[in-house]
Amino acid sequence: MDQSRRDRVEAWFRYTDELGLGPYYRDRAAIQDAYIAAVSASGTRLEASLRAAEPAPQAVAAAATPRRSQTQSPVHNAAQKATAAHSVIQASTGASLFDERIEGDTLDLIRDAIGGNCTRCKLHKARTKIVYGVGNPKAELVFVGEGPGHDEDIQGEPFVGRAGKLLTQMIEAMGLCREDVYICNVVKCRPPENRLPEKDEITTCSPFLMRQLAAIQPKVICALGSCASQTMLQTTQGISRFRGEWFDFRGSKLIATYHPAYLLRNPAAKGEVWKDLQKVMAVLGLKAKRK
Ligand code: SF4
Repeated sequence: MDQSRRDRVEAWFRYTDELGLGPYYRDRAAIQDAYIAAVSASGTRLEASLRAAEPAPQAVAAAATPRRSQTQSPVHNAAQKATAAHSVIQASTGASLFDERIEGDTLDLIRDAIGGNCTRCKLHKARTKIVYGVGNPKAELVFVGEGPGHDEDIQGEPFVGRAGKLLTQMIEAMGLCREDVYICNVVKCRPPENRLPEKDEITTCSPFLMRQLAAIQPKVICALGSCASQTMLQTTQGISRFRGEWFDFRGSKLIATYHPAYLLRNPAAKGEVWKDLQKVMAVLGLKAKRK
């Protein structure tokens, strides 16, 4: 490489480092980890950016549109850098950080694209039915789980087993019904023995989830459990590190909470989940259902 080109490349990397984008160019998965670590360390909360009519912090605004952010002043402190990194991260497994929405995309088109007999990943071998997702195509709130279980595999609908019944109770406690929200999973076919979806399966199937979320454009996405939250936030951090925090996700607000199946095993965690759901209710202007 000639010297002038080398100088230009080095200048570009210095610039992206100043914006907090450097880690993306080296290791895309690590950038969200850096943000989460910074949040955990500093106690920074993004809830401030959710306050009604309050503009997002300058660094968030600067980074929200990465191409435009290049005209903004570089951010300097670690927390701002981390926030900028958080704001530009895209949780798609697609080829580009700046994935475009598919113009005119709809849930029906996405279902057609998946097809009735998808064999793109090995989960197709043991499945009974593909579980696309269910609910309001214009929902303000979307719940995302990891994958179908036994009952879902049989019925072709997400969250209809014991954990699903608990999710329904949670939704109703928020003053909504299942038809008001949209419910889907990271992978659309049941992993054998209810194991966690594997990385290659998530990589293959999650672009359909990203299209679903882009088509619905909900105000709030509630990631249920580690798999869904780690997939969307592109992190390997445990959910307890960032549960209850707000993240910007492609124009939606994303919050992670425990999976209802975890609550069946650990009922004591229900209080933590209810606190998370109350944050969602505050953003959506919902009132708890009267008993
Ligand atoms: S999990 Fe997704 S990608 Fe894999 S076979 Fe099912 S629908 Fe296709």
